Amino acid sequence: MDRPTTLEDAARELAARTRPSRVWNEAESVLAFLLLVYLDPARLGGTKIRADGSSSQHPAVTLLSEIIGRSTDAVSWKIQNQRFVLSGGARGAPGRSARDVEVVDRYARHLDALWAAVETMSVHLPRLPALLDALGYPGGDAADAAAVASGTAVRSRGIAIPAGGTSVRREGVARRGQRPFRERVLANYGNQCALCEFRPATPRSAALFLRAGHIRPWADADDHQRLDPANGLSLCVVHDRAFEGGLFTLAEDLAVVTAPRARELFEDDASFEKAIGGMNQRIDLRRKDFERPGAEYLSFHREVIFGRAAWGT
Ligand SMILES: [Zn+2]
Repeated sequence: MDRPTTLEDAARELAARTRPSRVWNEAESVLAFLLLVYLDPARLGGTKIRADGSSSQHPAVTLLSEIIGRSTDAVSWKIQNQRFVLSGGARGAPGRSARDVEVVDRYARHLDALWAAVETMSVHLPRLPALLDALGYPGGDAADAAAVASGTAVRSRGIAIPAGGTSVRREGVARRGQRPFRERVLANYGNQCALCEFRPATPRSAALFLRAGHIRPWADADDHQRLDPANGLSLCVVHDRAFEGGLFTLAEDLAVVTAPRARELFEDDASFEKAIGGMNQRIDLRRKDFERPGAEYLSFHREVIFGRAAWGT
């Protein structure tokens, strides 16, 4: 667990606070970063003014502003500053603080640690589950499974708060982050299969047919690797199984490499072609903000999954 004492102290201080502090403490910064990571960036543009003159904010921004006792503008401002830091343009960001740099450094590539931090803080901040609801991540494992299975978001459950103490149930953390992992991975590939470009039309069909597959498999991965978007590949169910089974892998330049014996699994050339032959020869890299799969994950897949695939004959 990353520095539970500091973060817990900050959460406790925040819960007991009666007037806003000038400086954002660690818990507040981490919560702002949670919004940066999981809110649609298009919705962070600040306050939207309605035709009747009233204004609206994303509910998560409003809720966080209530939890920490700051204005919604202050929350939006903080998130924008962290976004500058995240995009590397940090040095000149006007509101940049050392704390923001630290928070971004610590969590940007470690979403498992971010979710563990959320759990730690939830012990002291009873409104955190509502914030997760507002973000669209109810957090309960059963709720997540149901949401994926039904293709609809289940919004009524809060995150489980560890009973009577501050211990974090590590085994729950990786699962809790699965839905955000899935969404980030799918979005990175334009919500379609990276291989055949199958593109589901509805959330229901996406839930049924599109997967955020792990390049280094879940069973061989640690918490960080299980939630690292660089370890994910958006694949339709057929190509997810084929990738899992080592029928094909990806070279360093993301060229598709089919196993020499993959053909043996199919009755004839035509069915082989239908299943595997229609794939792209290479993962499409043209999109500007495409996040490449991690080299270390790809080499694991090549060496262990593809190299030792025990099928055929
Ligand atoms: Zn496919």
